[in-house]
Amino acid sequence: PKRTKIKDLLNATEFGQQVTVMGWVKTFRNNQFIAINDGSGINNIQAVVDFNNTDESLLKRITTGAAVSVTGELVESLGKGQRVEIKVQDLEILGDSDPEKFPLQPKKHSLEFLREIAHLRFRTNTFNAVFKVRHALAFAVHKFFNDQGFVYMHTPVITGSDAEGAGEMFRVSTIDFDNIPRNDDGTVNYKEDFFGKPTNLTVSGQLEGELAAMAFGDIYTFGPTFRAENSNTTRHLAEFWMIEPEMAFYDLDDNMDLAEKLLKYVIKYALDNCSDEIEFLSSRLVEEEKQKPQNERSELNLIDKLKFCLENDFERLTYTEAIDILKSSKPNQKKQFKYLIDDWGADLQSEHERYLVEKHFKKPVILTNYPAEIKAFYMRQNEPDEHGRKTVRAMDILFPGIGEIVGGSQREERLEKLEQRMHEMHVPAEELSWYLDTRRFGSAPHAGFGLGFERLVLFVTGMTNIRDVIPFPRTPKNAEF
Ligand code: ATP
Ligand code: MG
Ligand code: MG
Ligand code: MG
Repeated sequence: PKRTKIKDLLNATEFGQQVTVMGWVKTFRNNQFIAINDGSGINNIQAVVDFNNTDESLLKRITTGAAVSVTGELVESLGKGQRVEIKVQDLEILGDSDPEKFPLQPKKHSLEFLREIAHLRFRTNTFNAVFKVRHALAFAVHKFFNDQGFVYMHTPVITGSDAEGAGEMFRVSTIDFDNIPRNDDGTVNYKEDFFGKPTNLTVSGQLEGELAAMAFGDIYTFGPTFRAENSNTTRHLAEFWMIEPEMAFYDLDDNMDLAEKLLKYVIKYALDNCSDEIEFLSSRLVEEEKQKPQNERSELNLIDKLKFCLENDFERLTYTEAIDILKSSKPNQKKQFKYLIDDWGADLQSEHERYLVEKHFKKPVILTNYPAEIKAFYMRQNEPDEHGRKTVRAMDILFPGIGEIVGGSQREERLEKLEQRMHEMHVPAEELSWYLDTRRFGSAPHAGFGLGFERLVLFVTGMTNIRDVIPFPRTPKNAEF
């Protein structure tokens, strides 16, 4: 179609030419002014109809939500708030939108309400901005790795191994639709296996990624990941996207350096390439902050917060150092955490992570060398410390307002140590023989991490619920469409 995107027209400096735009009606005022949006940007273009020379029946069909094609002269606008407008010569309704049924006044709709109305959700300014930022971040991730010679490796969604221990899994079941087996009550009797073998939806591509890294050197995966998360939090989805680089010949420091560099690169890319969207999201937050009492308002706006993250080194400290800080900290008026850290070895709760990031250091934090007890079997074991405490070379990156955004580690490359640890943790070595082959044939130091893509989008957009940064959230309550 010979059409111009509205975003390009709004930047035009030459007037008088004939243009065609196609988009959806946002508003129609005074039988004259149509605000049209085609999704190319947040801003609408104004098309001015000569209502004296337009059919009454056609005017009636210009309603909010209708799809239109408008051809006319691009002229300088005399109205406030826009530089250009279109003097309509020809207007065609491509698709009607029944004004009785269209959910009007999108501004008043809450984010919760919009989650139920998929078609409207996509057309709001907020979600236009959020999903543009999401797109830019995804593109930046690929660009970052491609520029550094990493290979994008597609790891399987259906996996036979359930030993990774990252969370509850979804089981894959098969059904022969030509011969549907029924239970006595008529319901379908699904076979709980994949052609005879039990399989699950992947919770992480790491183990497969390690195999690839041990041949390609540097690889990354970026795909959907599934966890049957039972809890209803604002940070967990049942289906989320994860970025998992895996690098041969990396130690824990190299791993942290790469993760910090990646995060800063993609955040900067979004700031540089989505300035309109991020400014819109920032002002949206300012409005929200105004509703709060003075002492609860945040000091930094979204853009300052993102820039601060770019300009400062992330704080790096060990789990043991973090525990020492937490033990002597007074987080609030009650002067204690809800969940007290008494002993070395306990897992940190989100209140502790948030305290370290938001109150103590006031910047992103990388915690390293966690107790072996609370981390996965594949992490590189350290020598026990002078108290005999066992740690592993894990690293978690914690972000303000988000909590854990990255989880990673240097991997245990020594076969004997790995097998011993698997035995202790009841991880079945027979099922992971294909994985252990990497340690049998040319094992080498290597490391990697998982970055939760939606948590990254949350941080950059300033949204507060993870459901609102993915086009179709999958949680226990959202799975109808
Ligand atoms: P959490 O402690 O928040 O449950 P995790 O430690 O279980 O996360 P990892 O197995 O370390 O998660 O996965 C790597 C990253 O994937 C996490 O740091 C996080 O950014 C993201 N992530 C994990 N689970 C989810 C989820 N259910 N929804 C969205 N992102 C997730
Ligand atoms: Mg978890
Ligand atoms: Mg965690
Ligand atoms: Mg983790």
